[in-house]
Amino acid sequence: MSSVKTRRSKQREVIKEILIRDVSHPTAEEIYEQARKIIPDISLGTVYRNLKLLSEKGIIHTVKVSDNIVHYDGNLEAHHHMVCDQCGMIVDVKLDQDIFQSLSHYFAAMNLQLRENPILFHGICKDCQSKLEEVTQ
Ligand SMILES: [Zn+2]
Ligand SMILES: [Zn+2]
Repeated sequence: MSSVKTRRSKQREVIKEILIRDVSHPTAEEIYEQARKIIPDISLGTVYRNLKLLSEKGIIHTVKVSDNIVHYDGNLEAHHHMVCDQCGMIVDVKLDQDIFQSLSHYFAAMNLQLRENPILFHGICKDCQSKLEEVTQ
């Protein structure tokens, strides 16, 4: 194996490891900040390239909250997400298959087909709920 190849696979490995440990669904920039602590001369472009490759291979998942921001997810178990409308935190949500089936019926009644892609819910996280309570008290 050439040194270029070794270096490339090390970069990919580091990025993968970051995503397995960091369950906060970081953005490419946030992953880059963490990767730099392990590989100081890694570039943001390299991080982007590796994230693209890893998601194309299905090794990581992407979560799109808005049109221009992509978050990355190392959790490959089937799950959905809720984004906090106050702080932007993305939380993993697990739903029973039954809930999906009943939702599918509602959609079918409107001639719409619900696909089992991860659903992005909107809500308010635990921390923000308590902050909001403090304000109203
Ligand atoms: Zn929040
Ligand atoms: Zn997730």
